[in-house]
Amino acid sequence: MLANSAHARDIAYHVHQQTDLASFRETGGTLMARGDGVYVYDEGGKKYLEAMAGLWCASLGFSEKRLAEAAYKQMLQLPYYHTFFAKGHLPSVDLAERLIGMAPAPMSKVLFQCSGSEANDAAIKLVWYYHNAIGKPLKKKIIGRVRGYHGNTVAAVSVSGQPHMLTDFDLPLPMMKHTDNPHYYRFHHDGETEEQFATRMAQNLENLILDEGPDTVAAFFGEPVQGGGGAITPPATYWEKVQAVLRKYDILFLADEVICGFGRTGNMWGSQTYNLQPDMVSCAKALSASYQPISALMINDRIYQAMVAESAKLGTFGHGFTYGGHPVACAVALETLKIYAERDIVGHVKQVSPGFLAGLKALEEHPLVGNARGVGLIAGVELMADKRTREPFAPAMKVGNLVMDKCQEAGLVVRAIGDRIAFTPPLIISADEVQEMLRLFRQGLDAAWSVLRKDHGIA
Ligand code: PMP
Repeated sequence: MLANSAHARDIAYHVHQQTDLASFRETGGTLMARGDGVYVYDEGGKKYLEAMAGLWCASLGFSEKRLAEAAYKQMLQLPYYHTFFAKGHLPSVDLAERLIGMAPAPMSKVLFQCSGSEANDAAIKLVWYYHNAIGKPLKKKIIGRVRGYHGNTVAAVSVSGQPHMLTDFDLPLPMMKHTDNPHYYRFHHDGETEEQFATRMAQNLENLILDEGPDTVAAFFGEPVQGGGGAITPPATYWEKVQAVLRKYDILFLADEVICGFGRTGNMWGSQTYNLQPDMVSCAKALSASYQPISALMINDRIYQAMVAESAKLGTFGHGFTYGGHPVACAVALETLKIYAERDIVGHVKQVSPGFLAGLKALEEHPLVGNARGVGLIAGVELMADKRTREPFAPAMKVGNLVMDKCQEAGLVVRAIGDRIAFTPPLIISADEVQEMLRLFRQGLDAAWSVLRKDHGIA
């Protein structure tokens, strides 16, 4: 591989994100060269079925020409403008109106940013701004969840509960607190039902709020389905119970729809799938099918009215990014939403989801698989050393990475999150492509299983 100069130059010059830098220096990586539908091809011409849609995001696959055309057209018309100082452009107006019209709960306004991290980071700032505005300057703490993920900026990653993203970065920020990871399969007590587990999760959240002091807790951030934590679907009654606690203590709720938004869970929003009533909604990724970097933070009128009053004191709302609401990104997002409507993307997800979920569930018979779960077109598969006792593999064995590598050899891109394998294929995946995905995954699992048996003597 190192003889290939592109790989050698990649090692020589480029810092890869979320990568084991030491092993990358030895082995290099995979350079993707082109895409076609749900497939991508690397520089050597090898074809992969992209079962993660990149980073849970390329909802329309990798060759949607209409999005390229929308970008080109907008670039010719007005390639750049900003939204500072009361200026703007039509694509941002059209997109804001469209999003407010389709929001999962009553929302008043949209703030455009460039990434999911920026949308959530802005939400954190607005939570603080809002509480200053309403004369509650002590109500500032934000609660996230262990294994939750809300981005990588200093504040958004602090609300996230991913230990490896906090250690050695001097994070989290002290005002960010974390409550339990609601992963029923891994953490339920013997004999505990999903409902009982959910009650315990909500009680622990309430205890945290009481310990911190309800007058100091401002907001709770949650993904309808935890993505980066390992595609963890919430247990029955979890959201109902958590939202009741948030209401009791007047705590704002942000639904992070960065992965779940735009059809992923079989409804337009994860908030619809789980009956969430958030005060703020962040979305990104499938908003533009990821052909352009753009995110949106929607806020309700209660927050917006307070912002107007607060900004009047200084004469300005002092937040903004050069590229927030970029016209090319807005134009691509508008075209994406048009395509979703024309092709009834939600209906399509509903149609292919049962085969996808049942196929993964059937793999619970495989010796490596302890649990498979999902909703719509997002799923997680839990690799277990002992399925009976729910005993995980020793982390040093890196079984998740082994399965991911064996899948890649077989021509399938999946993601290992520890020993959880995540799936979020492009939403356009066909029923036949789902079957191909399942076949390739089984091939990867079998190959990993024979390595484990040979190298570790696992029977
Ligand atoms: N929220 C969630 C739920 C995410 O999954 C992600 C990214 N995977 C983010 C926020 C951050 O988005 P970005 O990488 O675009 O900053």
